[in-house]
Amino acid sequence: MEAKILRLNMAGQPVEWLHWKEAVNLYARELIAWSLGGVVKRVHGGRSRFSGCQTFIDLPAIVASDGERLAQAKTIPPLTNAGLFRRDNGQCLYCGHYFDYAELSRDHVFPSSRGGEDRWENVVAACLRCNQRKGNHLLEDIDMDLLALPYRPNPYEYLALINNDRIRGDQMAYLRPQFKRYSGKLIGARGNSFSLRF
Ligand SMILES: [Zn+2]
Repeated sequence: MEAKILRLNMAGQPVEWLHWKEAVNLYARELIAWSLGGVVKRVHGGRSRFSGCQTFIDLPAIVASDGERLAQAKTIPPLTNAGLFRRDNGQCLYCGHYFDYAELSRDHVFPSSRGGEDRWENVVAACLRCNQRKGNHLLEDIDMDLLALPYRPNPYEYLALINNDRIRGDQMAYLRPQFKRYSGKLIGARGNSFSLRF
């Protein structure tokens, strides 16, 4: 898999991952204002009829481009199971065990049957067993704790979550300083602890 290119808006906020061909498109339309990081890919163009030299573009790892003509940064990243399971590190936030994503489910802390909303702050990864056990109960009505409070990833965290496997060091160095800071570990009511890992 080829590394993707991290696209920022003009304010430096990350917006999306681009395929290198999309980055070439931006480059050709002179929409890249500035760039950072190492070279992801060298793309060769045609030969100059004057010099006989072949043209090329070195595509950088991070590009900033005018957002007005492209998709705006999503202030609320879309909630998907894959993003959720990554946010929670593949861990069931009730029993604390780690699972393959296929064995995890999206649990609504405040149950959807009682009007709980389908949003980042109300959902956690849960194994099927814990999800079934919790059912429509409220946390306070059942002997179950949450190991961590669910949170909405900011755009920096979200882009890291959805591209964790192929992210380059220079891209991560850009994103990581904006990850939310947690003061050490969150301690559950029964003394369970949890730390956020990226
Ligand atoms: Zn579980």
